Amino acid sequence: APNGHANSQLKGIWIQTRFLQVPPTQGCYQLEGKVALITGAASGIGKETATNFIKNGAKVVMADINKQIGQQTARQLGANASFVTCDVSKESDISNAVDYTVSRHGQLDIMYNNAGIACRTPPSIVDLDLATFDKVIAINVRGVVAGIKHAARVMIPRETGCILCTASVTGMMGGLAQHTYSISKSSVIGIVKSVTAELCKLGIRVNCISPFAIPTPFAMDEMKDYFPGMDSKALADMIHNAGVLKGANCEPRDIANAALFLASDDAKYISGHNLVVDGGFTSFKSLNLGIDDSSVQ
Ligand code: NAD
Repeated sequence: APNGHANSQLKGIWIQTRFLQVPPTQGCYQLEGKVALITGAASGIGKETATNFIKNGAKVVMADINKQIGQQTARQLGANASFVTCDVSKESDISNAVDYTVSRHGQLDIMYNNAGIACRTPPSIVDLDLATFDKVIAINVRGVVAGIKHAARVMIPRETGCILCTASVTGMMGGLAQHTYSISKSSVIGIVKSVTAELCKLGIRVNCISPFAIPTPFAMDEMKDYFPGMDSKALADMIHNAGVLKGANCEPRDIANAALFLASDDAKYISGHNLVVDGGFTSFKSLNLGIDDSSVQ
């Protein structure tokens, strides 16, 4: 019968595929032989990404201003992790971190400019504290530019490399954070576009990731300022509840997985991209019609 024929053909394909298949995940390392430098790697997204990269075969240099926690984290991650003290607002620190990576491992394949700070500034543009603005821009924007500059310095001669940066959904929409932070993160998205235009001709890919809010120390410290006295669990729940995707919360591993994909050869033709990891938040706007939609499944 024709159906039986089709079935046996399908079965044949299935058997073939089954025997040809590469054994799943075990032994399949997406970053085998690659060397990464990650800033802001002592905590949160950077730490999770360092862990994920190492699990996938990379050697990782963790750069952070927090020497104590950074060294401790690198020790926890084992022989493929090392730590370098680095304040990304100082160009010489970034330059040293890049040179340290190359002298230790012989190359730099992945530069992840992830370090960033939040800040408390008055909500109105009229009251903006420009000294705080300069401080945040020095880390969140100038630090990213310096990271790209020095990574490019060692990647250009090899005509290969991957540069990642952490932007934010607050850089894509107004009103999600105070101006200083939003401006700093929208700049990161612009920096990626500008630099991609030059580095694509030299074989180097540049991308950023825009996470939704995650209760890392960074976000929790800011929330504690706004809601003094509220316990950490309640604050973390508040951050998660602001998300829109049913059944999931935004976690550091979601960003680490996005970074792993962008850093891997699976993303070999992706450059100049802002990978938004927000569960649909920036596409979502509820119409405030006063209709109770809590029963909608
Ligand atoms: P985190 O507090 O867990 O980690 C930030 C790390 O950056 C810390 O280890 C800190 O010591 C380090 N750091 C701070 N200033 C530095 C400097 N000048 N030089 C080097 N290192 C420095 O926070 P996180 O949430 O993992 O933040 C990482 C990045 O993600 C930041 O750029 C942040 O803006 C961005 N981001 C965070 C969220 C969120 O809700 N957590 C959302 C979107 C984007």
